[in-house]
Amino acid sequence: MYCSKTVFRCFRRIERFGDRVTGAAGRYFVIIAAVLIGLGTFTFFDVITPSLSYPWVTIPICVLIAFNLHMHYFWVCTVPPGFLDVPPQQPGSNFFWAKPRNSSRRSGIRGKPLTQGVQWSSSTQEIVITRAAVMRCRKCGETKPERTHHCRICNRCVLKYDHHCPMLDLGINQCVGIYNERHFVMFMIYLVLATSCFTALGYPFMLQTLGLVDDNWDYYSPQALYMLMYILSPVLGLCVFAMLLYHLSSIASGESSVEAHDHEVYKKLAKQRGEEFVNSYDVGRWKNFEYFFNIGPNGYPWTTLIFPYRIMPYTDGRSWARKPGYEVHGGVRNGEELTDEDFDDEDD
Ligand SMILES: [Zn+2]
Ligand SMILES: [Zn+2]
Repeated sequence: MYCSKTVFRCFRRIERFGDRVTGAAGRYFVIIAAVLIGLGTFTFFDVITPSLSYPWVTIPICVLIAFNLHMHYFWVCTVPPGFLDVPPQQPGSNFFWAKPRNSSRRSGIRGKPLTQGVQWSSSTQEIVITRAAVMRCRKCGETKPERTHHCRICNRCVLKYDHHCPMLDLGINQCVGIYNERHFVMFMIYLVLATSCFTALGYPFMLQTLGLVDDNWDYYSPQALYMLMYILSPVLGLCVFAMLLYHLSSIASGESSVEAHDHEVYKKLAKQRGEEFVNSYDVGRWKNFEYFFNIGPNGYPWTTLIFPYRIMPYTDGRSWARKPGYEVHGGVRNGEELTDEDFDDEDD
């Protein structure tokens, strides 16, 4: 028992050290990622695009994918994730902000006032929207609603904290939370699409760089750069695809990355008692997606998925849609809920 605890602490220390190193190197990761995405886009449009069939259709599609890829990466790195100690985000009015479908009905749906803090959400009979329970964070002292977690790298509480991503950290402490989680997932979707296109359409030119096809290399991109981009494309694409599948399955289950871990613990606890754990945020697979991307009947139009629009989440993080009949998770008793402190206390 003593031995396993020592090993656990040792792993925790290594993880903390890794956090510090990757935290410090964050802005270099961002610069490297931005340069790679930029070079990949340049070589694609320089070498591959001119050879595409039906250019009046295929080129606009390629431009749209590249535009989404770059903009969602920019948004996920720069949109504040939802720190608890700053005022709630408000929708902007510039070109990039999409208009919600029923903006005139923002204050209520079918005559029913919405729960305070929930914006443009569908308040149908099957979905219950309730205020989040609040507690005090022992790390920063803020009063935090449920689904908020304290990020130990930023040392701040983040609404609907998912994870801290060193690949996004420009030195402004970038977590993935309520306001940028959608951009994070959209960025992964468009990166997988872009790398798939590069890999599928670029192989004749790869053969040329290897000297297997005899043709003039009449492009701005050097052959070595093209070769590097063509090799990186499927490698990066596959890694991100695996991450994307994990995140999509979490969204389908109505949980964030942190909650996916916590819910595994709750499931075991409930099972030991012969009960079943029920995630109260899980309102059904498609509804979960609708809420995550906020494209439900009273959310934003589906075009927000194919253009890099900015939108507001369905809630301000202080109220949540729940499965009918579940104001709290099923199968979890009072006092059993895991907190950020439980996780960190193991280290003390
Ligand atoms: Zn905190
Ligand atoms: Zn963070």
